[in-house]
Amino acid sequence: MSASGEPAKTLTYEEALALLAFQVEAGAGDAFTDEPVNRYQLAAASEPAGSVERPMPAEGGEAGTAAPRRAPLARAPEPVAARAQAPATIPLDETQAVSTARALAANCRTLDELRDALANFEGCSLRYTAKNLVFADGNPEARIMLVGEAPGRDEDLQGLPFVGRSGQLLDRMLASIGLDRTKVYIANTLPWRPPGNRAPTPDEQAVCQPFIERQIELSRAEILVFVGGVSAKQLLRTDTGIMRLRGRWSSYRAGTRELPALPIFHPAYLLRQPAQKRLAWRDLLSLKARIDALPPA
Ligand code: URA
Repeated sequence: MSASGEPAKTLTYEEALALLAFQVEAGAGDAFTDEPVNRYQLAAASEPAGSVERPMPAEGGEAGTAAPRRAPLARAPEPVAARAQAPATIPLDETQAVSTARALAANCRTLDELRDALANFEGCSLRYTAKNLVFADGNPEARIMLVGEAPGRDEDLQGLPFVGRSGQLLDRMLASIGLDRTKVYIANTLPWRPPGNRAPTPDEQAVCQPFIERQIELSRAEILVFVGGVSAKQLLRTDTGIMRLRGRWSSYRAGTRELPALPIFHPAYLLRQPAQKRLAWRDLLSLKARIDALPPA
């Protein structure tokens, strides 16, 4: 019997292994130090300033760190042989581009239509420096949707979100609560990689926002997870930082639906601040409890 009174679930070997791997990464062994460590103080001292969770150059820059290419679950990206040719001038000014994006996104009735609309959308200059559109991965029918920030180098090369180092950590985080990419749908607030993983400009974010909002709306998600402060702040329309947002459930309006939404630390941040995995684990448990409380599908 578990603490909640539920009959204890027997873990499979793979689940137990993933859980153990995550707990070791989360610092389970750190209890065996000579002095006690107050990790709340550490957390406060290392509060990320602004862009700490950027898809890290290290993520794409390190040889041999990318996950092996694999068949995506969401509709296969259509890698472009060469970058999209930039028109002599970007055809729309930013305000027009946002209105066009909004109208285009609103017109789409399915995720496939939305993907095609984005692939043909010329109002965001990022598409001319990116190699591929990174639309989604995972199961479009999933009840859980994760929204990250922007593709990094590996994602740009493969046309899939979260396939670099931080994606591999994200997979382990999901595995530790019994999830994998057949059970979640994954997208980013930006579908194209900003060159050199630089921070996207407010204009770039604004012009892409109608698409991710519509993507959430068209998904079957019943629970949203914002992976990192950038997506959480942008989609919850708040200036509050991820240190305060993480682990707190809020409500996100997706068309006519209200979805429970949980911001969590970005795995790129956790790679740099492994001590924070302790809090991330707490948030994952909170997510698991929400998932377990969903009505039967
Ligand atoms: N970071 C993100 O936020 N998204 C990705 O797809 C990869 C890294």
